[in-house]
Amino acid sequence: MTARLHDPLAQFNYLYKEPANLTTMGTKYTFKCNKCGYRATASGGMDSGMHAVTDTYICGSCREIVDVCTGEYGQEYTREEAQVRKSKSGTGLNFYVCPVCGSGKNLLKWSASDCPCPECGEKMEKDLDGGMIVMWD
Ligand SMILES: [Zn+2]
Ligand SMILES: [Zn+2]
Repeated sequence: MTARLHDPLAQFNYLYKEPANLTTMGTKYTFKCNKCGYRATASGGMDSGMHAVTDTYICGSCREIVDVCTGEYGQEYTREEAQVRKSKSGTGLNFYVCPVCGSGKNLLKWSASDCPCPECGEKMEKDLDGGMIVMWD
């Protein structure tokens, strides 16, 4: 790739040719629990990068809030579909698996409106000091 950094727009156009992909930059927030001090960085809901589609889950195995890959190329799969697609996937993504501990057995969808802390159950808050992190893919 020869896109030049001093011309960010040209690089942008090179990377995102299709209008549908303009919204594919992943956005993450820092969430904190004021009761026990637990902090997590997560999207807080369905999100998609250039390849991976993620959704925010609580992993019951390691008790972390994690962004779990649930699809690819802007399409979210059911667990059944993911099983079939996994072997054919060109992206090498692991679907419905906790990125922290690797277990897929105890994933529970995290509610971005209730924001329950996986440690103590208290409602978590978006940590505005932690800022918004735009990254990945
Ligand atoms: Zn807590
Ligand atoms: Zn886990």
